[in-house]
Amino acid sequence: MPLLEVENLKVHLPVRRGLWSGAQEWVKAVDGVSFQIAPGETLGLVGESGCGKTTLGRAIVRLIEPTAGRILLEGEELTRLRGAKLRSQRRRLQMVFQDPYGSLNPRLTVEGIVGEGLDLHPLSDSPSARRKRIAELLSAVGLDPAYSQRYPHEFSGGQRQRLGIARALAVEPDLIICDEPVSALDVSVQAQIINLLQDLQQARGLAYLFIAHDLAVVEHISRRVMVMYLGRIVETAEARTLLSQPRHPYTQALISAVPQVDPDMRRRRILLSGDVPSPIHPPAGCPFHPRCPVAEVQCQSDIPLPQGSPSDHQVACHLAARF
Ligand code: SF4
Repeated sequence: MPLLEVENLKVHLPVRRGLWSGAQEWVKAVDGVSFQIAPGETLGLVGESGCGKTTLGRAIVRLIEPTAGRILLEGEELTRLRGAKLRSQRRRLQMVFQDPYGSLNPRLTVEGIVGEGLDLHPLSDSPSARRKRIAELLSAVGLDPAYSQRYPHEFSGGQRQRLGIARALAVEPDLIICDEPVSALDVSVQAQIINLLQDLQQARGLAYLFIAHDLAVVEHISRRVMVMYLGRIVETAEARTLLSQPRHPYTQALISAVPQVDPDMRRRRILLSGDVPSPIHPPAGCPFHPRCPVAEVQCQSDIPLPQGSPSDHQVACHLAARF
């Protein structure tokens, strides 16, 4: 059984049209996304800024309420749960945020930040057990337990991200949504954090949804990768297959921009024209058609449905068979 199943998830967010107008429009941030994650698996999610990746992650952990669709954790539908039952299941889904500076409460000590989840659920039965557990968590993420009375501003960016990971681990989750966890860090620190996430996965059997805009980083850590464009998943495949045989024109353009040291692996750069269209008024038909270098007449009117198996190679493009 999959650990997480997401079925036709939609997140449409209200926005006011104009400063003084009362008229409301809807940003289709996530528009019919389906996928599964197996226990212990890392599924990568890539796409340009504003494509809906972060909104999708936040909807899964219910920081944003989905508009439609289902989220199932080991077969139990989270979208129907309320109150204590929802809180207890939400413990199993945690999030590590992109901004290691803004995501930690500056008024709390390390002990307060990491211990918050232990108190909320509650997972420690005495002050000494709580202190011991916090010390174990700090060691697990490579921080000295002696730092437990320090404040976030006393740490570097990489150390703060380690704190964010310790906070997520405190409640013993099964799945962590890693939302661009290394993009605000120096390259050398990025590698350390990715190695830490991989070590923790091995030791604890964690599953990750790893969100990033950097395909090279996602390929390194993920078994399968999904590509998102304007609120929809356009291609899903094994990481190596996606990098070597991308079939969706948008994925092909993304991959052509990844720098390659090996001259045999270098691709002709595909430059996309125009900007990502507004998710308030997405184009009719294939949402990628205004920028697609191979679009045909059908693409302007018909939405391409995903073809193929998501566990193998799935592509949402009318011309996928040709690529
Ligand atoms: Fe391009 Fe058409 Fe495929 Fe969309 S469906 S990616 S517009 S070829």
